[in-house]
Amino acid sequence: MTCPSCNKEATGFYRYAFTLQGVSPFKSMQGYLTCQHCGVLLKVKMFKKQLWVFLFAAFIVVLSFAYKFSDYVPKFGFNIMAEVWIAIVTGLFVLFTVGMRKYSHVEKAEK
Ligand SMILES: [Zn+2]
Repeated sequence: MTCPSCNKEATGFYRYAFTLQGVSPFKSMQGYLTCQHCGVLLKVKMFKKQLWVFLFAAFIVVLSFAYKFSDYVPKFGFNIMAEVWIAIVTGLFVLFTVGMRKYSHVEKAEK
């Protein structure tokens, strides 16, 4: 996402995924963040359709894996399947965070 105030990248992946980005937890949940360059208060206005397409695809992947899980356990063993499951969920979480950051549109918010 580009900051409308300074036209630079408003936040980075780690900042987006693991910090509150300069706002309170409550504000963060509402989609507020501050720009990492100029510190202006921003609010996520919308997500582009790529994110919804990804969300739908991720949902299908998770659903089909969950559906097939018990079939594959005798073949590969429970531990392997659990590790694959964790890898899928972690991978999707990372992709989703990247996507949310990339495909969200932010506007300047009033304090
Ligand atoms: Zn800025």
